[in-house]
Amino acid sequence: MKAAVVTKDKKVEITEKHLRPLRSGEAKVDVEYCGVCHTDLHVKNADYGDKTGVTLGHEGIGVVSEIADDVTSLKVGDRVSIAWFFEGCGHCEYCVSGRETLCREVKNAGYTVDGAMAEECIVTADYAVKVPEGLDPAAASSVTCAGVTTYKAIKEAKIKPGDWIAIYGLGGLGNLALQYAKNVFNAKVIAIDINDKQLEFAKEVGADILINPTKDNAEQLMQEQVGGAHAAVVTAVAKAAFNSAVDCVRAGGTVVAVGLPPEAMDLSIPRLVLDGIEIVGSLVGTREDLREAFQFAAEGLVVPKVHKRPIEDINDIFDEMQAGKFKGRMVIDMEMKK
Ligand code: NAD
Ligand code: ZN
Ligand code: ZN
Repeated sequence: MKAAVVTKDKKVEITEKHLRPLRSGEAKVDVEYCGVCHTDLHVKNADYGDKTGVTLGHEGIGVVSEIADDVTSLKVGDRVSIAWFFEGCGHCEYCVSGRETLCREVKNAGYTVDGAMAEECIVTADYAVKVPEGLDPAAASSVTCAGVTTYKAIKEAKIKPGDWIAIYGLGGLGNLALQYAKNVFNAKVIAIDINDKQLEFAKEVGADILINPTKDNAEQLMQEQVGGAHAAVVTAVAKAAFNSAVDCVRAGGTVVAVGLPPEAMDLSIPRLVLDGIEIVGSLVGTREDLREAFQFAAEGLVVPKVHKRPIEDINDIFDEMQAGKFKGRMVIDMEMKK
């Protein structure tokens, strides 16, 4: 079967891979769609270590074609996700306290185990979340990482209906953050991006205030116009955005860090202490978060904007992503021929 595999020179090669036979607890999935996340770009570029040989992909959606004898949670024909949170140990303090994505023995699709940018893929059956009826599978692929990650991040922001939330970065994650914030959490949204095209798109999906920090002072504008945001979610892949977020929130505000630029942010200790700012990191979402995020999308509250592409386009997609050239999400369509 065809798979998108990371090479030593930080490219991706479409090669033939063979799946091993299923082991206890596993299922085989015929992949239909797999979204391309900026995290795949970090993995391919070895931002968090060399990953030569791994099959990328953690926004996978497909249909179960085979299950191991002992599997009871899935059946052949079920449509399921292949997510970054691929498997936890199931018994540590994190796994048993609703924080399973922090499991120290976690497996991640397209990183520590082969992912979903392939015609077929093996999943741990109990960790594959079922896609609800009525949710388009290509749209579901975006919810599998971009959607659940931002939905969870907004939960971490602890906002109330009517609160102001600043979303930094309106790319694949950010445009869904905006939609969950507005349509599920009833917040007012300030969209901040260095790319005017992303801001136009943010306006189309309901942003209340748009700011391009290359033209305006984002922190000052937010403090003047709304008295500072109640919370900020940072999906931008830039240290400058994290620093700005700390200054854009009001006293007692929360900054939720989601983007993963491999660098450090600055943090004024007096600002942190005297203004009671909270800064939290948020990593994807649990299986339950994904089930909820899917359900809101199935109800039409969140509509991912997807562009279907053949798997052979993967290197071009990464170049375009690096250059910030597209709106919404590029999604590999396994059926599409080049
Ligand atoms: P993307 O490339 O689609 O979007 C990034 C956006 O940030 C673009 O619109 C870009 O114009 C904007 N941007 C860049 N610099 C900016 C700045 N200084 N200020 C404001 N906006 C700026 O990427 P994506 O797929 O949305 O992923 C975003 C980040 O989130 C990546 O680092 C990815 O690895 C990370 N991520 C984290 C998690 C998690 O669980 N925490 C999950 C998925 C992705
Ligand atoms: Zn991702
Ligand atoms: Zn665990």
